[in-house]
Amino acid sequence: MKHALVGSLALLLVSCVLADEGGQVRAGEGSLPIVLCAPHGGSPELVIPEVPKRRGEGVAQFNPLWDTNTHLILEAAVAELERRTGARPFFVLAQFNRKYCDANRPAERAFEHEGARLPYETYHAELREAVDALRAGWQQALLIDIHGQKSRPDVIWRGTRGGATAAGLLVGEDRLEGEQGLMTGLRARGYSTFPNSWEDAERPYGGGYTVATYGSTADDGIQAVQLEIGLEFRKGRERAVQTGTDLGAALADWLEQHAEFVRAR
Ligand SMILES: [Zn+2]
Repeated sequence: MKHALVGSLALLLVSCVLADEGGQVRAGEGSLPIVLCAPHGGSPELVIPEVPKRRGEGVAQFNPLWDTNTHLILEAAVAELERRTGARPFFVLAQFNRKYCDANRPAERAFEHEGARLPYETYHAELREAVDALRAGWQQALLIDIHGQKSRPDVIWRGTRGGATAAGLLVGEDRLEGEQGLMTGLRARGYSTFPNSWEDAERPYGGGYTVATYGSTADDGIQAVQLEIGLEFRKGRERAVQTGTDLGAALADWLEQHAEFVRAR
């Protein structure tokens, strides 16, 4: 009996490791009050074994295209934050391609084949774990949801549902668009951003499922900002890595400027 129990525990452990080693989701724990995620960074050759492409029939906002090179932007931002601060942010990266599963949708619109459920749920379990750890450890924490858009290839497009997913960043001081705001910091590094004021609507990239689920719109959320990176800033590996490095540097500056605001509990 005892052996059977030990055996099944070992099996359970092995299956967890295998799910991870399948490479469908990559995640890392951090010690900075930041989590970076990229739900659409999985390139087209990254299939989910035995899962067919989604058809999207009757699915609102269906989009099977990946956000080219956003995985590189995430990786470079993590590396730059570590270089600047000596500490790592949390990160969660979907390694599967969006043709099979869309991690930035509620489950019922995210996948069509049961084989995609585990990757989807793993992605969100990792995000939930990171957000819970950040809430426990810090007064304030930031989630940056990294995407790509090409309708305005020369801008980084902010999505916060009009400020609602990052409401805590706008109390007392505007920590996004104000003098020491994150978007202001990106502009200082040569990136045009949109919108630049709260008068202009964020549509059509106004903030999706991820920022609404883990942002300040939720009782158990943190401050969440969706960044839709224009194609110009991620066309080719070198450009994407530069953009990620600049994003990491802007985040490091922001942490310094708002050290009192984000301090540990
Ligand atoms: Zn996206």
